[in-house]
Amino acid sequence: MQAAPQVPDPLRISSALSPALFALGDPDRFVELLNSNPAGVVLVDAGPELTIVYCNDAFRRWAPPGRRPVVGRPLPELFAWSDRAAIRASYREAVRTGQPVHWRSASYHARSGAGSAGRLAHWNVSHYPLSGPAGRVTHVLTFTVDVPDEAAVRARMRKAQQRVLDGLGDVARHLSDHGDLTAFFGELSRALTDLVPAARAAFWLHDPAAETISPQAGAAGFTAEQLDRLCGVPCPSGGQGVAERIVFHDLVVRDHVGVGAGDATSYRAALRAVGVTDTISMPWRVGDRRLGVVGVYDSTRPAGFSEEDAWVLQAAVTAAALVWEHRQADAAVAELREREAATLRQRIEQSTKLEQLKTDFLKLASHELRGPLAVVRGYISMMEDGTLAPVGEHVGPVLPLLRAKLDEMDRLINEMLETARLDDSALQLQLARLDLREVVHEAVRSLEPLAGARHRLVTETPGAPVEVRGDHSRLSMIVTNLVHNALKYSPAGGEVRVSCRSADGGAEVAVTDEGIGIAAADRDRLFTRFGRIATPDTVGIAGTGLGLYLSRNLARRHGGDVDVESEPGRGSTFTLSLPLAR
Ligand code: ADP
Repeated sequence: MQAAPQVPDPLRISSALSPALFALGDPDRFVELLNSNPAGVVLVDAGPELTIVYCNDAFRRWAPPGRRPVVGRPLPELFAWSDRAAIRASYREAVRTGQPVHWRSASYHARSGAGSAGRLAHWNVSHYPLSGPAGRVTHVLTFTVDVPDEAAVRARMRKAQQRVLDGLGDVARHLSDHGDLTAFFGELSRALTDLVPAARAAFWLHDPAAETISPQAGAAGFTAEQLDRLCGVPCPSGGQGVAERIVFHDLVVRDHVGVGAGDATSYRAALRAVGVTDTISMPWRVGDRRLGVVGVYDSTRPAGFSEEDAWVLQAAVTAAALVWEHRQADAAVAELREREAATLRQRIEQSTKLEQLKTDFLKLASHELRGPLAVVRGYISMMEDGTLAPVGEHVGPVLPLLRAKLDEMDRLINEMLETARLDDSALQLQLARLDLREVVHEAVRSLEPLAGARHRLVTETPGAPVEVRGDHSRLSMIVTNLVHNALKYSPAGGEVRVSCRSADGGAEVAVTDEGIGIAAADRDRLFTRFGRIATPDTVGIAGTGLGLYLSRNLARRHGGDVDVESEPGRGSTFTLSLPLAR
């Protein structure tokens, strides 16, 4: 073995690098550092010859054969003629300015033999001028790294990345299959042993309360008994042991676990106790959360773990952290969904119950009201035909209004009953061929007493029958409801036009008023059960919000529909459309 090259004095006394030298405290250590440096290091005299005073092994290996010994020779002589001017110029600049000169990807001809210019190569060069006691630059220290070497490093990294990508494809595929945590970590640590490659791997979880780390169950290559023994390795947040530095200070360890006695409770000692010989161990983090340590143990390669293995592990651990986070997020989303679904189920149950209650109420109320109403109706009939003693002159004129009000109550009760039937799916249509004109006339006639002086009720029907197949009482309920609404919602009066016609294979009854109208945003709500629109215009107008709901549903049962066109403040047109009878 060759003796370490001597470093000349100027380097030891005063130089731009002296702070580093003093920091190291030991000039021999500095020499050792220079010698073991993979970069070429060469020290030249600052004189015009640029004589080489010192060079390290890496530079010596680079120098062309036949030019040895290198020390004592002018540096430019090692290079092809064509490169020498540029080399001299760069040194001159460093000597003149006393400042470091960095030269990226400088080209030079790598020489194969004396005098012959070889292939073109590139290197990164840094010149550090060193000053003597008089402040004059006496030497220049140069570091060189061949650029092709950088490319080789990149190629190695690319290869390592490919290893990671290939391996991770597998990891991801396996991980998605596994539900429980032990299986998850089992797959993950097995995947790491394949990737790095190693005989064993483990994820260690940090327990902040106990200030310890313990390997997760399922770690690859360890027996359950070994994992038990590894549990509870001390890891206090202020500690200086390996475990603490990995967990809290992102230390990456690639070394032999060794045979020394050490602290029996330390990470290394614990591993040694279960027969581990070497490791790469690094922090296991998810974002800012420090979860613990990831370690691979016992390289299966004779040369042990390499630097690439550390890169591969780093990438795999980053990916594993992402998978872990994803898994946690999935679990959280699933839990959230389950909670939302439960709330929704509860709401649906509540609202179903409420709907049922409303239906029950409608049934009950309408049945209960029917009896007393029949009695009142009986009395009014008797008053009308004089069976119930002669009515006074004051009562006589109001009898038609009483009857109209009675009819209104009747309609209301019928609406309630029909709605309850519709909701219970108990509604049966009694279909027959009928003339829609008659339905219109009847409805208008029954409502005339309610029209009052301010309204003009106009009916428009064609000369020929408008024949549909329908349930007479239900169709009449629809038309009555539309006309009644037209009167109710035009409190200032005006014309209410009810027109019936057949068009395009269909029949239509359109009820147009000049009332308060409906805003576009409210139109969908009109047709819902109990859907009423509260505006200053509708205050004081009584109603249940059942009429249009029922009308549309009944029309649809007939294969038709009820629609609305309206302009707030100008009036509305509600149209019942039905298929014509064939
Ligand atoms: P209601 O018993 O409240 O009249 P409806 O189902 O018949 O119930 O009508 C629902 C809502 O539609 C009413 O509360 C009212 O706001 C609106 N509406 C119905 N017809 C008209 C109309 N011709 N003009 C303006 N608004 C109307």
